[in-house]
Amino acid sequence: MHIKRMLYLAEQESKKSTYYQPIGAIFINGNKILSRGYNQLRHKAIGGGRSGYTAFSCSLHAERDCLSKLEKERIRGGTLIIYRSTRSGDSALARPCRQCMWMLTELGVRRVVYSTGQAPYFEELKL
Ligand SMILES: [Zn+2]
Repeated sequence: MHIKRMLYLAEQESKKSTYYQPIGAIFINGNKILSRGYNQLRHKAIGGGRSGYTAFSCSLHAERDCLSKLEKERIRGGTLIIYRSTRSGDSALARPCRQCMWMLTELGVRRVVYSTGQAPYFEELKL
């Protein structure tokens, strides 16, 4: 799947967020979209995720929302795409935070593509 297409789909996901900085994520493995997620405010535990990472947090990051829906075995080797938009709808930097990066590495995600605020509006990391 083309990077622009993946970012577009993550952007669509970010529109579900009510957060002041909407972030959406999609996860692809074997050329298929396996999961989608977006950042949310959470005030209570919503149970253990299938991947072994619970979705509990006061602020649930899009990466964690997306990957907590999947079994670990389906995550290894895949690609996570993260899109963040400003309140006015422009592309903004969506580089994962340290905790999310740690989780991505632990789960064996191979590639991360995230939006930025400057052309070409994305960056890519190989983990
Ligand atoms: Zn994070």
